[in-house]
Amino acid sequence: MLWLVLTTGKCNLTCDYCGGSFPKEIVPWGVKYDINKLKVNIERDPNATVIFYGGEPLMNPKFIIQVMDNVRAKRWGIQTNGIAVRLLPEIYWRRMNVALLSIDGREEVTDKHRGKGVYKIVVKHASYLKKLGVETIARMAVTQDADIYEEVMHLLSLGVFDKVHWQLNVIWSERWDFERWAYSSYLPGIRRLVDYFMSEMRRGKIVKIVPFLGVISAHFFKRYRGVACGAGYDSVSISTDGRVLSCPIAVREKWAELGTLDSFKLLEEPLPKECRNCEFKDYCGGRCLYTIHERYWGEEGFKVVDDVTKEYLRIVLSRVDEIKELIKEGVIRLEDLRYDPTEDSTEVIP
Ligand code: SF4
Ligand code: SF4
Repeated sequence: MLWLVLTTGKCNLTCDYCGGSFPKEIVPWGVKYDINKLKVNIERDPNATVIFYGGEPLMNPKFIIQVMDNVRAKRWGIQTNGIAVRLLPEIYWRRMNVALLSIDGREEVTDKHRGKGVYKIVVKHASYLKKLGVETIARMAVTQDADIYEEVMHLLSLGVFDKVHWQLNVIWSERWDFERWAYSSYLPGIRRLVDYFMSEMRRGKIVKIVPFLGVISAHFFKRYRGVACGAGYDSVSISTDGRVLSCPIAVREKWAELGTLDSFKLLEEPLPKECRNCEFKDYCGGRCLYTIHERYWGEEGFKVVDDVTKEYLRIVLSRVDEIKELIKEGVIRLEDLRYDPTEDSTEVIP
């Protein structure tokens, strides 16, 4: 199971997607529970992946050190904005299996939303971590400024990221003209990107584009029982006050509370009811529990995003027959398409 462990509500950036730190009274800036409670829960899970989360998790490196020194887990990782990487000593970085670094694509696109100079620092730190043997994942937020094909190809071309993943800046932010952008720019860009992904596959190379891999893997291996990120059934988030949440950004929402480190209960039926008759449910699992519950863009906004999700899935799944042929011909191995998003803390469906 995936354990997203919040180390603080504090953040050292004020990106325009989320605005920065959580208020201290909602997510305390220091950890308020006894670390032994965390240890007991995580060590009961033989398959535990622990990912440090925030706020910005590196604003509390002492707690990361304390957890890594005292808790046994199968896999370690972090979701970071990539600025304060040097605050954690190298010996701890060498023990991390994966680091997800926030970067949106080309320099001007990243710096516009995250702050001047951010792109250069993140790329430098991704290179540093990769050299230490940490798997690096570029974690993009995608807005109307992005040309998805250009941004992803740019990040792949840098050679410092092992995988690329993105999420659309929809529903959790102010309403924008998503529909026009999605049909004129995003979906055409996805078709080009899938063409590139397939051309590399025909040469025997699987490019690690997570939103493609996660859908293809669901087809060949394990279909999703709920949202692909695992929220509430394969993944829990531990807030700094000891509350156990289904989703790490739902820190204020009652529906997300599963209990506390003393006792909590996973969701029995993780697939949202809206999705039970959807032809894509096995590949999508409901996309995002947070947006299904919150609906900041209303019913109409939800439907617009959902139509784009469905078209996205049609584009990716339209290549399955070709992939089967490549496996049959021995160009690629089926096993190399296996991808478990809860090992990386990715969400798969943009
Ligand atoms: S495509 Fe939409 S309706 Fe279907 S499973 Fe995903 S979120 Fe649910
Ligand atoms: S995809 Fe949605 S439900 Fe899953 S972790 Fe992200 S915000 Fe939460």
